[in-house]
Amino acid sequence: MKLIKIASIILVGFILSCSNIAEENKEWSKITREKKTVDNITYYFSSKIDISRRDSAIKECQNSITENLKLISETDFTNKMDVEFVASRKEMLKYTGMGAQGMAFPDRNTFFTLLKEEGSPIKHEMMHMITMYKWGTPPESTTWMNEGLATYSGGTCSNYSLTEIYKYFIQSKKVIPLNNLANNFYGNPEMVAYTQSAFICKYLIDTYGIEKFKQLWKKGHNEMQSIYGFNNEQLESILAEYVIEKHPTEITFNWEVFNEGC
Ligand SMILES: [Zn+2]
Repeated sequence: MKLIKIASIILVGFILSCSNIAEENKEWSKITREKKTVDNITYYFSSKIDISRRDSAIKECQNSITENLKLISETDFTNKMDVEFVASRKEMLKYTGMGAQGMAFPDRNTFFTLLKEEGSPIKHEMMHMITMYKWGTPPESTTWMNEGLATYSGGTCSNYSLTEIYKYFIQSKKVIPLNNLANNFYGNPEMVAYTQSAFICKYLIDTYGIEKFKQLWKKGHNEMQSIYGFNNEQLESILAEYVIEKHPTEITFNWEVFNEGC
């Protein structure tokens, strides 16, 4: 008797779940995306995004290109590519395999980005696209330059300057040895690795120009001595001296807020 009751419960449950599936499949829902090509870039948006917001995002991309080219002393950018604006980190994970804010794939001629009012990843990702198109994907040992340059360009969501941030890393003993940045960039504490690299990139470009920077990017970190004439430890001392001269006394710094990122 008990067995029959259980069997009938299972059967009713089965019928109900089948009818649910039938119900779910009956109607199709429409997801529409719209695209617009301006010069060499095609922009893809959900139809739910207002036209004026789409236009401002396109403008942000165009301004990013102009400013990034200026930073690396280049003049033109004509590679054909797609910019996909996605709705959430969840969607980003679905399309790219990473739940990041932005992902650049120059080998797929595409970058994916969230549409954000504050802390937008567009300029950072655009720098990845431009430099990797122009200089190639760097060897693993200069990944720190790829991320550092993109972070220098895109900003850090912090009110402190890169020099102040580096000063704080020195005073709180958070500076990552250059060797570790070069050997295993993504294995280091994220906020320190990205901003420290951004600071070093800015310093190298401002002090020694873009040509040497480009050479090191392409040839790999082991060539630092032959390109710049100093090794890791010497560069660490040069940077510390530069920063301590600019900021001789300790600065107050909100590490918790900084470490949350954008
Ligand atoms: Zn990046």
